[in-house]
Amino acid sequence: MLAKKTKADLTDKQLLRYNRHIVLPEIDIDGQTILVNSKVAIIGLGGLGCPVSTYLASSGLGTLLLIDDDTVSLTNLNRQTLFTENDLNKNKVDAASKRLLALNSDLTIKTDRSRVDQRFDTSKLKEFDVIIDCTDNFEARTLINQISLLHRIPLITGAALKFEGQVAVFRNDIDDEPCYRCLYPDLPDIKNTCIDSGILGSVTGFVGTILATECIKVLCKFGKTFESKLFLLDLKNNDFKTIKINKDDECRYCK
Ligand SMILES: [Zn+2]
Repeated sequence: MLAKKTKADLTDKQLLRYNRHIVLPEIDIDGQTILVNSKVAIIGLGGLGCPVSTYLASSGLGTLLLIDDDTVSLTNLNRQTLFTENDLNKNKVDAASKRLLALNSDLTIKTDRSRVDQRFDTSKLKEFDVIIDCTDNFEARTLINQISLLHRIPLITGAALKFEGQVAVFRNDIDDEPCYRCLYPDLPDIKNTCIDSGILGSVTGFVGTILATECIKVLCKFGKTFESKLFLLDLKNNDFKTIKINKDDECRYCK
């Protein structure tokens, strides 16, 4: 549970470092204290995971768990801004951890080189306040949804392809809310990824910063999130729309 804290819970250095958050009435000292005590799991350190982890690190999130089994390749560098040419062939979680700790040495960063598939140990995510799904395949997405339901943790999910993106927040910690599988009861067979279709790098930055912002809003409990909503964006045509996600009474995952 996210308990309210007082000024005494932040050091003078933290009060200075996060001053621009603290002057926002929506965040203030209580909100920043929540952030420095929160634990967020980021699954997938690609085009979305890079901006998400960067902004959560700079925002002072207490603990970040980075999960990715991949290594850095040259084709990643049009969008995966945590990595440099010096990181080629290194494990993404190791390269990312180094960069994020250089940005904010107060963070606790945990890394995990697992792939989220049927063999993944779901108990690893038990202690987290929010899970952010930045993966690029439906198998991982549906498993992450199940883990989030099992441990009753809010799930923030994003996707980006070509010039388009999606964001949704699933309150799998609350009864009677729709889950990811209420939105996608039938998973497509095709593996539609940016390898085949392409992705403009800046589009992933746009979607990733929305995911980080939604995470901070969920943790600090302010504003309107994309809870039980699907935000669809098309940056080629600057077309934005939000669709309500209804709970599927037939969904065998969240009932
Ligand atoms: Zn469901």
